Amino acid sequence: MSQIGSETNPLRVAIVGAGPAGFYTAERLFKEKSIHVTVDMYDRLPTPFGLVRNGVAPDHQKIKSVTKIFDRLARKPEFRFFGNVELGTDVTVEDLRDHYHQIVYTTGAQTDRHLDIPGIDLKNSHPATDFVAWYNGHPDFRDYEFDLSQESVAVIGIGNVAVDVARILCRTREELMETDIADYALEQLSQSKVKEVYMLGRRGPAQAAFTPPEAKELGEMAGADAVVLPEEAELDPLSQASLADADRGTMRNIEIIQELAARKLSGKPKKLTIRFLVSPTELIGNEDGEVVAMRLVKNELYQTETGTMRPRATDQVEEIPVGLVFRSIGYRGVPIKGVPFHERWGVILNEKGRVLDAASNEPVLGQYTAGWIKRGPSGVIGTNKPDAVETAECMLADLAEGKTLAPTHPEQEAVADLIQSRKPTFVSYDDWVKLDELELAAGVEAGRPRVKFTRVDDMLKALGKA
Ligand code: NAP
Repeated sequence: MSQIGSETNPLRVAIVGAGPAGFYTAERLFKEKSIHVTVDMYDRLPTPFGLVRNGVAPDHQKIKSVTKIFDRLARKPEFRFFGNVELGTDVTVEDLRDHYHQIVYTTGAQTDRHLDIPGIDLKNSHPATDFVAWYNGHPDFRDYEFDLSQESVAVIGIGNVAVDVARILCRTREELMETDIADYALEQLSQSKVKEVYMLGRRGPAQAAFTPPEAKELGEMAGADAVVLPEEAELDPLSQASLADADRGTMRNIEIIQELAARKLSGKPKKLTIRFLVSPTELIGNEDGEVVAMRLVKNELYQTETGTMRPRATDQVEEIPVGLVFRSIGYRGVPIKGVPFHERWGVILNEKGRVLDAASNEPVLGQYTAGWIKRGPSGVIGTNKPDAVETAECMLADLAEGKTLAPTHPEQEAVADLIQSRKPTFVSYDDWVKLDELELAAGVEAGRPRVKFTRVDDMLKALGKA
């Protein structure tokens, strides 16, 4: 057999997870002109693009245009998409080892970080990640129910996901019509009785996790006033002292927050209050087990030995009436059976993207990872590019040293036969292109950018595969 990476024996790579990290890994591999590579990308959903489709806020259509780059890659003859194929159910890691020289896990962070306070599991208390997946039309979440008949909602956390959730709750029907939000979410949010939304930050304005463009957007909503309590916009002495080393993003956040604090209510139907230095300590329920209020404690900041500002509870407490709660304190990775996992960090055990054996801490031959399941749930879509490049370069270096798997069936047809036998309803990239065209056409009819398929069955029916 000729050398791996030659024209007659191309490097065969399986990428599991069709989000940005997967596509950026493929992009870097295809850029390597000295070798021949073929990539098969798997996703458990029939649709590609991961969080760009199911996570990015629907009113951020511009961000979604990154899919044009991914689409160009996917149309290469060396690329195949096996959608609707789940690792662990339809194929196993063993199957992949039998068919590929290298495997890359780019499965993202599929669940949320837990918040351990009394009452957190009451009715109408949800992970924000569920709500995000719901309004984006993720098939696993489309039938979830959120009680939008409540007037008062709290979002715990002030990262960009919390901002997305708060903004979507505040948007008018007209604003939502300009988005590709799931059609059922558009209807339910249009009928929503929500009037008051709180975003709760446990630290101060100088430590806010949101980024300035997202913060600024909160002050520009058609149907909601964004407010900050003037006393909470003031910096405490520790934060004030830290400004000398602050980056531009922090300085701009502070400016935006103080500008919001100086505003008067303009009388818009909804109000979004961004709170600082408060932590929820308990959710209070009624006799039906539904949340009716939240207990908060006021925090003060202290500085750790490493210079980080941490919140510490004071004895000042308050209660706010809320009938719906979203906790938005970060995503978390989910382990893949047979792949070493760091439980505390919620990531695949790895070094620069090389999967590490849990016992020996040595690289596991032929297995790699990129994106949130490699480094944790941080950064914007573009952050995944350098992250994926790092992984792809480890893969290329290992190939140069002959460190690859030795699959028994490296032929492209062998894996196609396997998938055909295991999951005849798999979705190819050509199939996805058809779904995409149908969604865009439905969008034109509805006067919106796109109307999404939100049930796998409907997608398969549209493809004649049901
Ligand atoms: P994040 O940026 O890490 O924010 C998490 C928030 O939860 C922070 O405000 C954090 O406060 C708070 N938090 C954590 N533990 C808490 C606790 N026990 N009690 C109260 N609050 C707690 O995470 P994210 O919002 O899920 O976003 C994930 C990544 O996606 C981020 O990098 C984000 O920028 C990115 N993203 C970007 C966009 C965009 O570009 N438009 C949109 C969505 C997401 P502390 O700071 O005090 O820890």
